[in-house]
Amino acid sequence: MGLLDFTDEFKEVLDRWDKKVEAPSPENRKKARLRVYKNPIVEHVFATSHPILPGVWFAGFIGYGAWLAVTGPRGPLVGLPIYLAGVLAFSLLEYSLHRWVFHFDPGDSDFGKTMLFLLHGYHHQFPNDKWRLVAPPLLSWPIAAIVFALYSALLPMDIVWVLFGGTTLGYLLYDWIHYYTHHFRSPRTRIGKLLRRAHAVHHYRLFHLNMGISSPLWDLVFGTFAWSDETVKEAMAETRRVEAGQAGT
Ligand SMILES: [Zn+2]
Ligand SMILES: [Zn+2]
Repeated sequence: MGLLDFTDEFKEVLDRWDKKVEAPSPENRKKARLRVYKNPIVEHVFATSHPILPGVWFAGFIGYGAWLAVTGPRGPLVGLPIYLAGVLAFSLLEYSLHRWVFHFDPGDSDFGKTMLFLLHGYHHQFPNDKWRLVAPPLLSWPIAAIVFALYSALLPMDIVWVLFGGTTLGYLLYDWIHYYTHHFRSPRTRIGKLLRRAHAVHHYRLFHLNMGISSPLWDLVFGTFAWSDETVKEAMAETRRVEAGQAGT
């Protein structure tokens, strides 16, 4: 058995998939989740994640960066804006990855199709899978390593730790807000309602709009924010149908 062998159930769903990162197909509306990898360690440790775990992995970086921002040699007046710049840098990365990578066109390549499905197609087909909602280590750790390496190549180390701390805080906010938009189904605050509804429009109506998840900031900057009473109403009705179909499976 190869380390990254897929289960038959996953291969069947992947074969049937039409390469569209859009709403779930009629068959996929009947189940909440799939097992992807045969190897239990790959499946349960590296390819899925309990929603609390990103907080555990990245808390040290978030805390150390914040501490250094306040007590570091440059002082809080320099440190805190750098930390906030890290949060903002992540939100731009979140928008960019979602818009230009997670919805890429794989053409006729089977490898491209599989990568697209693993990266984001799965989430659009099974948006209610609690175990594949926050990024698993296979995705978040390599991205964090690349960002850290990039910062280290360009900046002095005391700034790197502060900026990286802010960036990991931005990442954690994104992952938990994304979890919130799918699993806290009756938000009470205006911002909670806005985020859940805007993300539903992305999942069920306008698949190439509302690419920001933790905030609409970059959608407003790049002109990809979509909001109309009618579209929101349709998207929420569809959200409830899919949630009911995929519940308890
Ligand atoms: Zn998407
Ligand atoms: Zn989503």
